[in-house]
Amino acid sequence: MDHFTAVDGTLHCEGVNLETIAQEVGTPVYVYSTATLRRHARVFREALSGAGRVHLAFAIKANPNLAVLRVLAQEGYGADVVSGGEMARALAAGIPASEIVFSGVGKTRRELSAALDAGIGQFNLELEEEGEVLGAMAHARGLRAPATLRVNPDVDAGTHAKISTGRKENKFGVDIDRAVEMYGRLAEQDGLSMRGVAIHIGSQLFDLAPLEAAFLRVGALIAELRKFGHFISRVDLGGGLGVPYKAGDNPPSPADYGAMVARVTQDWDVELMFEPGRLLTANAGALLTEVVWVKPGAVNPYVIVDAAMNDLARPAMYDAWHDFEAVRPSGARMTANIAGPVCESGDTFAMGREIDRVSSGDLAIFRSAGAYGATMASTYNSRALVPEVLVDGDRYAVVADRILPETIFAAERVPEWLLE
Ligand SMILES: *Cc1c(COP(=O)(O)O)cnc(C)c1O
Repeated sequence: MDHFTAVDGTLHCEGVNLETIAQEVGTPVYVYSTATLRRHARVFREALSGAGRVHLAFAIKANPNLAVLRVLAQEGYGADVVSGGEMARALAAGIPASEIVFSGVGKTRRELSAALDAGIGQFNLELEEEGEVLGAMAHARGLRAPATLRVNPDVDAGTHAKISTGRKENKFGVDIDRAVEMYGRLAEQDGLSMRGVAIHIGSQLFDLAPLEAAFLRVGALIAELRKFGHFISRVDLGGGLGVPYKAGDNPPSPADYGAMVARVTQDWDVELMFEPGRLLTANAGALLTEVVWVKPGAVNPYVIVDAAMNDLARPAMYDAWHDFEAVRPSGARMTANIAGPVCESGDTFAMGREIDRVSSGDLAIFRSAGAYGATMASTYNSRALVPEVLVDGDRYAVVADRILPETIFAAERVPEWLLE
């Protein structure tokens, strides 16, 4: 459920007419619904109410906008970060350092050092050497870094190859079969306080079975670790729950996921940590765009919109589907291709799709664009960096400015020797 609905024939986000936003902010622009963000945050928390003491850390790579982070922080969410930049954002949004988890396969020494200085709550280690380096850094500061070991359970999550992370050929985590010995060595590091294990097997998961299989492997692993005398107090089960993008999509409900988690983990006697990303924000956002031209095509016309692959990369990257709807639909329909202005054939949002009939100047939205949308935007083709708006009831605010090409190239320099 989201809050992008028609009022008197015109799409609104909560109480704000999307035509007003287009007029005042321009297009393309991302629009987020606070009510939807809060609702998703609460539904997920509620779904896990049978799973004991849980920590919730929003995977902020899905949508790192400071205002979005602020809403989720108010809902009691910490942050799962994968770079120093994301850590800085989480702190700037007011998320306490103790509620920040640092994930990621390529944390640099500089990033580890900054995270230690910030006092973040948990490091998810991806390889043994990382643990040694972090342990030495912490020891030199007279600290013990709280850490878990991310294991790779070798399950096929059944999702798109580019967002599958839990197979042994993927770059993430350590081989679960080698985790016990490695954990033993890490637990001996003076500068580390090993708390348990972490997994994250992929994104946009539509099947609970691989998640359950992975969790069962983790359950066996913690029993084994305890046999060796290790103190296991925390297990991080990652994120990955899928969301519906189109009619007929039927991902597992948060409630079914929560029930499975409660059943599988009931004897674990640990604090559980979750890192939802897409689930919280995907359907809380839409990309508002204007039709530039309707261009006749060989089979179907091309609806050329002013949003492009640099603003919303998912269709070009993952062949992803985003529903397309006119802001003021007439009721008539057409079959069309939808594409942006960027000079790549990959800058295509849909082919041969039945959509609301639109013509030049009409406004439309791509739905479900609140996760892995603005965060992946670039300025390719020297287009502006897309702005973001947050709606709350009948008020809205621009929460990220449109950054113009002039501002971006002001940071570039032509060296002296070329100026003659
Ligand atoms: C991306 C990521 C997540 C969030 O994934 P979603 O599919 O958006 O829920 C969680 N944890 C880690 C380690 C990630 O890399």
